[in-house]
Amino acid sequence: MTSNACLLRENGMEPTDARLRILEALSGQHIALRAQDILKALRANGPFDKVTLYRTLEAFAERSIVQRHCAGDRTYRYCMPAPDEGMHSHFYCTRCGNMACLTGQHEPGMGILRPMDAAPLPGRLQAVEIRLDGICDACLSRQG
Ligand SMILES: [Zn+2]
Ligand SMILES: [Zn+2]
Repeated sequence: MTSNACLLRENGMEPTDARLRILEALSGQHIALRAQDILKALRANGPFDKVTLYRTLEAFAERSIVQRHCAGDRTYRYCMPAPDEGMHSHFYCTRCGNMACLTGQHEPGMGILRPMDAAPLPGRLQAVEIRLDGICDACLSRQG
């Protein structure tokens, strides 16, 4: 069984073909994708029902199988970090709308949120959502 299939079972979901295809489209990307982008990727490999996609993304987000983020253009973006990446921030380009996952060395979120000398949180942290808005390198270089 693939790790995505295990992940679905752990969250009480049957690893159906549609669900596995959606997770496959999201795994290993370092960018948070719009539902319409995911649909396009899925349909490159065969037909895929739009309503199924939206419902499934909703169910995945509720179970934290994927992370859902609100972008600056008010549409949701979905990403699926590798298990060792966990929570991370995003860089949102206000020009092209790309939303890059900031993982590893690029991850500033926890540092911003938790300075070294901060007092302990009054509870257990479960999620952090930090979005950095700006203009991506690709857009900057197109500017000339
Ligand atoms: Zn850009
Ligand atoms: Zn992400």
